[in-house]
Amino acid sequence: MSVIVRWAPSPTGRIHLGNARPALLNWFFARRHGGKYVLRMDDTDLARSTRDFADGIEEDLAWLGVTPDFLVRQSERTALYDAARDRLIAAGRLYPCYETEEELDRKRARARLLGKPPIYDRAALALTDEDRARLEAEGRKPHWRFRLDGRPVQFADLIKGAQTVNTGSMSDPVLIRADGSYLYTLPSVVDDIDLGITHVIRGEDHVSNTGTQIEIFEALGGTVPTFAHHNLLTDAQGQGFSKRLGSQSIADFRAEGYEPLAIAIMATLTGTSLPIEPYDGLDAIAAVLDFSMISHGAARFDPAELDGLNARLLHTMPYAAAAPRLSALGLEGEAMWLLLRENLARFADIAEWAKLLTGPIEPVVAPEDAEFIALAKALLPPEPWDDTTWGQWTNALKTATGRKGKTLFLPLRMALTGRHDGPELKSLLVLLGRKACLDRLP
Ligand code: GLU
Repeated sequence: MSVIVRWAPSPTGRIHLGNARPALLNWFFARRHGGKYVLRMDDTDLARSTRDFADGIEEDLAWLGVTPDFLVRQSERTALYDAARDRLIAAGRLYPCYETEEELDRKRARARLLGKPPIYDRAALALTDEDRARLEAEGRKPHWRFRLDGRPVQFADLIKGAQTVNTGSMSDPVLIRADGSYLYTLPSVVDDIDLGITHVIRGEDHVSNTGTQIEIFEALGGTVPTFAHHNLLTDAQGQGFSKRLGSQSIADFRAEGYEPLAIAIMATLTGTSLPIEPYDGLDAIAAVLDFSMISHGAARFDPAELDGLNARLLHTMPYAAAAPRLSALGLEGEAMWLLLRENLARFADIAEWAKLLTGPIEPVVAPEDAEFIALAKALLPPEPWDDTTWGQWTNALKTATGRKGKTLFLPLRMALTGRHDGPELKSLLVLLGRKACLDRLP
């Protein structure tokens, strides 16, 4: 059986880190098993879904490095859902209900007063044809509920282990709203059957849906896929990410200059037993991440960890990977990259650091160091320069002045670069060359 997975975002906003988790976990699973990956836009909620959000999600996914094998939009597949609806009605599993929201609220309040669970009482199942005709003559439009079997539905979850969802303690779910539009539950099952989805990998907030949906799979005669429900990512305060609350979106991280791989690693390895550290790319993660490594507790995102990881990815980035991005900034040179990369927090910082080589820089010389710097200028070795030049120069200065450590090196750094931190001076010196150094030493 070849693996087919899907990631099914609702295009009601831009995706955030929490959404990136299933997007990527599905991708890893597909890669690991040589399977296919479907991007499914769950856009049946016409009031809240937009094409712009859907396009944005495609863009974010591509930025993360995921290339879906195909894309489907639920809004274009209504005929399939209508056919499934008709079959469920014919089988007596889907029934029309006429209660208004207020009536349902009253029923729930009454149940609570009696100490009963607020489950829908299935009053609509008892309606006769005449009752229905009368209600519709009053102008009521039905919404449609799926008649649950009300039994312990069992499934073997690839992450959480054996699961049981007792549909007997649930209300019959509404599958179709009074305006005829579908809620997510039925279209999702219809699509999973139609597209031959073998594995449904999604957040653990869907576990009870899975109970309902397994009943729908069976009612439609479809093959029930294997499920894997992962822990949810929370922000640093332990709150879930939310599109509506404007939690940091993938687009925000991108605009802030983070590496897509850093975001992908944080989104997927937080809350697993694998370390948060640089990997060679998504395939390298896919090769090692197994569902057994995903913890059952919450996965708390730590922004400081992201910053550290982003920096480490840059500090180890090979020139071949950096070169095209450098050239977009008008920069080139492997030696320059290898020297400067260890200072980067974001890739774009390289433009500022490159000025250490190209100048102009403003040398800084404290009055008490003026004489020392003048001597340094005089003792600058003749070319050709190599890796030993820095040692020769500073040893000569040490002998001449008795200075050592910070008092020897910091004034040289300040004079050559205008700042007190930065790249290794030994290599910087060689890259600058004698003439540029002489120009900088006042
Ligand atoms: N659109 C649903 C969501 O974003 C999809 C859940 C699923 O994967 O079935 O939660």
